[in-house]
Amino acid sequence: MTKVPTSDWSLLYHQVREVISHGADIVRVAVKFPSDVENLTRLVKEFPQPIIADIHFNHKLAIEAIKAGVAGIRLNPGNISDESRIDEILKVVRDYNPDLVIRVGMNSGSIPDDLRNKDMSEALVQGALRYISILEDKNFFNIKVSLKSSDVATTIRANERFRNLSDYPLHLGVTATGDSLSGVIKSSIGIGYLLLHGIGDTIRVSLNADPVEEVKVGRKILSSLGLGGVDLVACPTCGRSLVDIKPIVQELSNLIENRPDLFSGITRIAVMGCEVNGPGEAREADLGVACGRGWGLIFAKGRAIRRVRFDDIISSIIEEAARIREEKNGFVRKGQTEII
Ligand code: SF4
Repeated sequence: MTKVPTSDWSLLYHQVREVISHGADIVRVAVKFPSDVENLTRLVKEFPQPIIADIHFNHKLAIEAIKAGVAGIRLNPGNISDESRIDEILKVVRDYNPDLVIRVGMNSGSIPDDLRNKDMSEALVQGALRYISILEDKNFFNIKVSLKSSDVATTIRANERFRNLSDYPLHLGVTATGDSLSGVIKSSIGIGYLLLHGIGDTIRVSLNADPVEEVKVGRKILSSLGLGGVDLVACPTCGRSLVDIKPIVQELSNLIENRPDLFSGITRIAVMGCEVNGPGEAREADLGVACGRGWGLIFAKGRAIRRVRFDDIISSIIEEAARIREEKNGFVRKGQTEII
């Protein structure tokens, strides 16, 4: 989600371009004032990625956002609940964009008054279900749901409860997570737990930081779970290691982030600091290296294939990634003999 005033085109354009270039698939933008709509229209024209308008309190802004061509709107049941207003919104959806998605976005900070005395996870679920039934009664089913709390356990419980009761897609996130480190930890636990249990369709990491950092963390959560991108694993090193593997890890991390094309089809790369436990982990990855003093043993798809100079480890991994890619694309690969 963008964090600059939507009314400032230069800031908005730059931020949206940055988050997309770092891997955001969907961008949500706060629409707080009627004057924001002009830039929303420009944004929709400028970027092919879905733009979602985040709306609170003012249903007229939802109507204008739909007319601006957004792919979806987020409505908060805690502050837009009047049925006649929902009718007005749905009429514009049908007239302008019948494919538009409405996200029912429940947040622990804006629970409807009559649910405040309930357990928070239950209140989130009930608030969402009630809103969904209003939309369904009006024959609208293009719905996704988010149930967010600043408490990790509440977020998990709410999403689990909801999944037991409904099949609508779930957008996951832990909200108001605190400082950046806390945010990374809370988001990783909350989102990671749910994804591992097969719950969740889209994610947003909320950090008190630049949204590019949120996208990077989100990408790492997905790659850590084998749900997209490259999972770069590195041993913590210990007294057995005779080399400093940090520069290799750093460079590979930069390449994975900025040149993902080099590693397409690769899901895991392992960089290990010694020849004792290193080979085992390196074998488990698509590509791996177990380092000794001044050299590295390169592994590809479970086999030790080459011993290279320490300075050539990165180029060797890139070369092997290209080989694996070629093989996947149907080119015949010359057989490689395992060297140990
Ligand atoms: S792989 Fe080797 S260097 Fe790394 S932590 Fe394990 S034993 Fe230590």
